[in-house]
Amino acid sequence: MRYVVIDRGDPYSKELVERFHELAADKGFIRDDHEPEKVISIGGDGTMLHAFHKFTDRVSDISFVGVHTGHLGFFADWQAHELEELVEVMSTSEPSYVRYPLVDIELETPMGKTNYTAVNEFTLKGVDGTLVAQIDINNELFEMFRGDGIVISTPSGSTAYNKSVGGAVIHPSISSLQIAEIASINNRVYRTLGSSVVLPQHHHCDIISKKEQRLLLTVDHLSIQRNDIQSVRCRVSDRKVCFARYRPFPFWNRVREAFMGYEVK
Ligand code: NAP
Ligand code: MN
Repeated sequence: MRYVVIDRGDPYSKELVERFHELAADKGFIRDDHEPEKVISIGGDGTMLHAFHKFTDRVSDISFVGVHTGHLGFFADWQAHELEELVEVMSTSEPSYVRYPLVDIELETPMGKTNYTAVNEFTLKGVDGTLVAQIDINNELFEMFRGDGIVISTPSGSTAYNKSVGGAVIHPSISSLQIAEIASINNRVYRTLGSSVVLPQHHHCDIISKKEQRLLLTVDHLSIQRNDIQSVRCRVSDRKVCFARYRPFPFWNRVREAFMGYEVK
């Protein structure tokens, strides 16, 4: 089994990485930084986002395993003290693979089109003031938006930024994307729905810039600032991100443990 480990960069995560390599060597696993089959993330959910973006091009060929150094995360099934157990099950059993939807973004500027893929979400915000944008769904005008910004999230990202702005939590088995507003202004000129909207796999939406404005585009933890964005097209990706599960940890249990803070035995 060829693997790579991506860590948060703090001393504790680095120590765990060394330990993982020792344990993995004993089992005959092969370190491969370029063409791994398994990507192990050690740190937080943010570390998994980094791991994903490092291998976006190979996302169809690899599966991810998360080890959390703090509390259990949305992308991490294992805790730091369980490293031995993890390597043991990795060497003796076949995992089940779960596949979560991604969102593809096509950014259009006078320079051309650029594509990105998000695991959590993509956001568009004004840099100097409000974002002024037209939102089309399936090539038809849906609403005129004026406000702080728009969050377009995947189901697995629905528990992140999307949730902070009042979006719904969506089960990752539902191939969809969610459009949520960040502080929209509502008056006679700018009128938005107010609630978030969930689009199915074969729909798309365009966010069209309606004035000359500096915009901040974020894709997960990455951010890009530009003054020439014409529009952004978003759709549910044809590709999915794959997680290798060596023991069950249902999505709703993660939600309960992360937000309600208790485990049910
Ligand atoms: P960060 O500011 O360190 O992380 C923000 C928090 O979001 C961390 O507690 C992180 O967990 C958690 N998180 C990440 N993915 C999640 C998911 N799918 N479900 C639930 N919680 C999740 O930044 P970061 O670690 O680079 O993560 C980037 C993410 O931060 C973005 O994708 C966005 O979702 C989120 N964010 C949220 C807000 C907000 O809620 N107002 C604002 C900006 C960005 P860990 O501590 O385990 O890493
Ligand atoms: Mn983080």
